[in-house]
Amino acid sequence: MKKIGSLLILLLTTFTLFSFIIQRGDLKIPVYKPLKTIIIDPGHGGIDPGARGTFSTEANVNLAVSLKLGDAMQKEFPDLKIIYTRTTDIVPGNKSTIEGGLLYRADLANQSKGDLFIAIHCNSAGKAPGGWYGKKISGYTTKTEKVKVKKKWVTKTVKAPIYENYWIENLPKGTETFVWAVSKNDSKIKSVAKNTENYGELQDSSLNIQLPDPNDPAEKARMLVYAQHYFRKSLNFADLIQSEFVAAGRVDRGVKQRNEKGIWVLQATGMPSVLVEIGFVSNKQEEEYMNSVKGQAEIVNNLLTAFRKYKQKIEEKASDQEKK
Ligand SMILES: [Zn+2]
Repeated sequence: MKKIGSLLILLLTTFTLFSFIIQRGDLKIPVYKPLKTIIIDPGHGGIDPGARGTFSTEANVNLAVSLKLGDAMQKEFPDLKIIYTRTTDIVPGNKSTIEGGLLYRADLANQSKGDLFIAIHCNSAGKAPGGWYGKKISGYTTKTEKVKVKKKWVTKTVKAPIYENYWIENLPKGTETFVWAVSKNDSKIKSVAKNTENYGELQDSSLNIQLPDPNDPAEKARMLVYAQHYFRKSLNFADLIQSEFVAAGRVDRGVKQRNEKGIWVLQATGMPSVLVEIGFVSNKQEEEYMNSVKGQAEIVNNLLTAFRKYKQKIEEKASDQEKK
């Protein structure tokens, strides 16, 4: 018992010391480094069409916008390495299940040593894309009815409602950008270990740590620091994206956190990551916008501007870091 106690104290001391060292910056963690590899993840695909619009599917809109975004980024920054999780209408990696596809997306991002992960999705709301018919009472009329009164049939005048079918437009619209949920920090920490390049830079040779072990408290402390940096960067990028959408006159639904399946990729990738809902495919107007050449160009331009600003900021900080 005593042995375990002193071991625990030793571990705690190491942990505290380590956190202290990290906070003081004595480890010279190169938190900021120029962006090299960008992972673009068009949501859904193949057997998984995602949300349906009146004439298009989310999977196809996501793909079209993702490919154009990658092209635009490559054109402006020829040194960037752009990696798509899919370039055709398939489940990424040609996997037979949606879950298999999700795993593939994250693995590809981690193995490609991505510096930034951008998932493109469309939103959906309401009973049906476009809209649906509802019934309402538009007035009253009278009608005659035969009713039995004391075993005799008599004719009676009664009040009857007049129903009218009316069109209920599917109204929700706008854009929102997701970052991984804080409650998922533990899995984010574990995925930091999978992206060995970024993690490798964190390693201090004098400490002689070869492979990250999330069960080691010191290692966990390092990874936690990294996860917090990723979170800050993701939040920063998400804010920039939403600001550009607002400037373009889109409805702003904000930067959010969510824990659902589609967001799993955000916590499974060991790099800053965002999921952008570029509009509602269930809203007629936005479906048309997201399918149009003009709309896609505008969305791509918004995302590209946000990326440019994000890149600038990261690279300024990276050079500041070097000067220190
Ligand atoms: Zn989606």
